[in-house]
Amino acid sequence: MQTNSHKTDIKQTEISIIGCGIAGITTAFYLGKKGYKVNLIDPIVNSEINNLNPLNGTQASLGVLMGNIYKKSKGRAFSLRNKSMKLWKEWLTEINYSEFNLIFEKPLIKLASSEKEYQSMIDLIKNKKDFGIELLDKNSLEFWNYTFETKLIGGLISHEDGRLNPIELIKVLMHSLDQIKINKIDNNVVQINKNNKLHEKRWNINLGNNKYINQDFIVLCSALSTQKLLEPLGHKIFLEPILGQVIELELEDKTTNWKNWPGILNYQSINFIHNRANNLLIGATVERGTSPSRLEKQVMLKINNTAPKWIRNARVCHEWSGIRARPTNEPSPLIKELEAGLLINTGHYRNGILLAPACAEWIGLKIENQ
Ligand SMILES: Cc1cc2nc3c(=O)[nH]c(=O)nc-3n(C[C@H](O)[C@H](O)[C@H](O)COP(=O)(O)OP(=O)(O)OC[C@H]3O[C@@H](n4cnc5c(N)ncnc54)[C@H](O)[C@@H]3O)c2cc1C
Repeated sequence: MQTNSHKTDIKQTEISIIGCGIAGITTAFYLGKKGYKVNLIDPIVNSEINNLNPLNGTQASLGVLMGNIYKKSKGRAFSLRNKSMKLWKEWLTEINYSEFNLIFEKPLIKLASSEKEYQSMIDLIKNKKDFGIELLDKNSLEFWNYTFETKLIGGLISHEDGRLNPIELIKVLMHSLDQIKINKIDNNVVQINKNNKLHEKRWNINLGNNKYINQDFIVLCSALSTQKLLEPLGHKIFLEPILGQVIELELEDKTTNWKNWPGILNYQSINFIHNRANNLLIGATVERGTSPSRLEKQVMLKINNTAPKWIRNARVCHEWSGIRARPTNEPSPLIKELEAGLLINTGHYRNGILLAPACAEWIGLKIENQ
């Protein structure tokens, strides 16, 4: 009886998720699987998914999952990473991603650019014995010395960290949302209001077309717009834009040995991703504000003045930028219940793809426990 009545409750509970970046999509996925009636609202929810002209932070992202090499081994930030790395594996099997053009690109290799960085790699490996991380062996190091025309101190390989191509990931997840019958509403949310009418659900959402919907729960996954939507309700959250640029390089040099290239290479705090044939993605800058800086782009392109010839001779064939929402006075991400039925899952800053499943689960469990 208990189980039946609980199931009926779930089926009658209506939840609107505002924003269809990775935070909104994964929250919809989690709640939809549980059987809730879910609306996913965003003016771009039915738009083409691409990074030629990214429509949100998620489409601009590189999709790197650096969960295991995170230096801490306790606390909230560690737990979210740990949980997410496990959940991504589970979810990928569940959504049958092999039917699509999505693979979990592994491993991750990180090259040390100073003695200090190398020492912290040694400490990390000592502290995180069961996390699939090792120091690079002599042969690998020789390969990277040759590739980057340098003499490296050392580096590490993390066998379970890697990358999910965000564009392919969104496509797969959107397909899964259709299968579990998530209702996609391609509109802008103008305002959210508390509803005090008896026998009605407790929240109203005003849409751009002057229509409104009446809901049990609202989950805001609207990045920078979140603060404006919350202000009239007296909830103050502070987010600032941090821009990131990505460059796609067409390499002249056909001698690069892609067989030795990992899912992700991280060197000088820049990610290098073998994209296709002789094509490499490099990114991402970390810039305050909303306009891309030419200087930051040049610094990245020159790999902090360490760029080898094959990169110096490469042609920039495409570039894009995107905005990350960073909380200004509390740690990222912001996953909270602000009041009954009003939750936020935002402010993901640099790790939204990595942390998405754990944050979606956090929201889901909060709602389930009401
Ligand atoms: C260049 C770059 C590289 C990155 N690389 C990585 C990486 O390697 N690994 C990683 O984990 N993370 C990375 N990130 C960070 C990651 O992309 C973000 O943390 C993540 O995308 C945030 O997702 P989100 O869903 O919170 O926001 P977004 O993807 O920005 O989505 C917010 C959505 O809300 C919608 N919205 C806003 N207001 C409203 C409204 N009023 N009504 C309806 N909808 C609304 C918007 O249209 C938008 O679609 C990178 C980011 C950038 C820019």
